[in-house]
Amino acid sequence: MAFTEELDQKIKQAITSKVKGPCEKCGNFGFDLLDSTIRLDLQNKPNVIEVGGPSVPTIALACTNCGKIDFMQQKY
Ligand SMILES: [Zn+2]
Repeated sequence: MAFTEELDQKIKQAITSKVKGPCEKCGNFGFDLLDSTIRLDLQNKPNVIEVGGPSVPTIALACTNCGKIDFMQQKY
């Protein structure tokens, strides 16, 4: 589900208040917020893909120059 404009702005404000510095790959300072959350499933068994277990809800930022994507835990 896409973020509302209000939620998008709140997330961007929270990120820019805490995250400083340029993209670690290209030095660019701009980023785009990907328009939905991403669920990272925690895997406890090697070679077994578990779905529906513990997970970490995240948001993703993409560098506006090189496209590098960084994941941020949603609760912060
Ligand atoms: Zn970059």
